[in-house]
Amino acid sequence: MIYPIVKFGDPVLERQADPVTEFDGALKKLVEDMFESMYAAHGIGLAAPQIGIAKRLAVIDITFKEDPDAKLVLANPEIIHKEGKQSQNEGCLSIPEFREPVTRARKVTVRAQDINGQWFEKSGEDLLARAFLHETDHLNGKLYISHLSALKRDLMKRKIRKLMKAGQW
Ligand SMILES: [Zn+2]
Repeated sequence: MIYPIVKFGDPVLERQADPVTEFDGALKKLVEDMFESMYAAHGIGLAAPQIGIAKRLAVIDITFKEDPDAKLVLANPEIIHKEGKQSQNEGCLSIPEFREPVTRARKVTVRAQDINGQWFEKSGEDLLARAFLHETDHLNGKLYISHLSALKRDLMKRKIRKLMKAGQW
């Protein structure tokens, strides 16, 4: 099932999501739906709040279907190590049409549970590190625009409010 992507302005994107506690068939179905919804929206990462579900769950595939082994499920993820710096354009399915350079750590280690509830650690560099940070932020109610300067962020919010008024958001 393909869920519509929740856009900026919906409070579900700006609250702390709740821990995943049941690693059952319903979770497996939700993860499948999240991958499907992410691919349909042409994304490489999706957090559950972005489909209106306030759970600490995210899916990532930075290869966009090219490598099945690149599909990652992160339940209850925590960033346990960060190093270096990178600055690249970043976007978000919940803030369509906008992209801004964001400085983040270049190498990141995440600790999370898989679909069966098994804890694992995984390190990523560059785009994967960025995806770990971006998706984990989502689960803490934080959007990438919070990493921009106040000036840039306010400008973006003004543009979004205009789109909302025009019924184009
Ligand atoms: Zn996002």
